[in-house]
Amino acid sequence: MSKARGESKYVAIRKSGIHNRGIFAARDIPEGERVIEYVGDKVTKAESDRRADLQLDKAGKNGDGAVYIFTLNKRYDIDGNVSWNKARLANHSCDPNCETDVIKGHVYLISLREIGKGEEITYNYNFDLEFFEDHPCLCGTEKCVGYIVGDEYWPKLRKAIKKKKAAKRKKAAKGKGGKKGGKAGKKK
Ligand SMILES: [Zn+2]
Repeated sequence: MSKARGESKYVAIRKSGIHNRGIFAARDIPEGERVIEYVGDKVTKAESDRRADLQLDKAGKNGDGAVYIFTLNKRYDIDGNVSWNKARLANHSCDPNCETDVIKGHVYLISLREIGKGEEITYNYNFDLEFFEDHPCLCGTEKCVGYIVGDEYWPKLRKAIKKKKAAKRKKAAKGKGGKKGGKAGKKK
């Protein structure tokens, strides 16, 4: 394999309707194909934790620190937050056409089905529930649950959203909790 790591004949970078730039199928992709390798710095767990903490401090403790960090094995992670990692541009979807998998020490986006030329390449970021409100999902698919959360947490997420809505209604009924200053033009 003489191909430069992180390059792929299958993808092109384009502006995305979901978020910023995304990666798109440059040609038809069969099911079960390694679409692109998710490359980055191979770092120890300790270094990975240090980088995540640093990023968390920058991002204001909303969980964004771990966005690009992939578990490789017990000892090492991949920090994909590097310019040569095109796969980092792949957007999250609640109904994705790819998944990530580790094969012989390399992380790949693998197609879950046939992908037609021009389709945006997506995968589920599999975030946990902790900061879900900081990560609204704009994937626009029918399956969208509104937030970037791994599907194993969807039942819990739906409960959390219900609870939040109920609490909001309660607050509104009490007539409290409005922002001061009338910025939103709220009538009294
Ligand atoms: Zn979604």
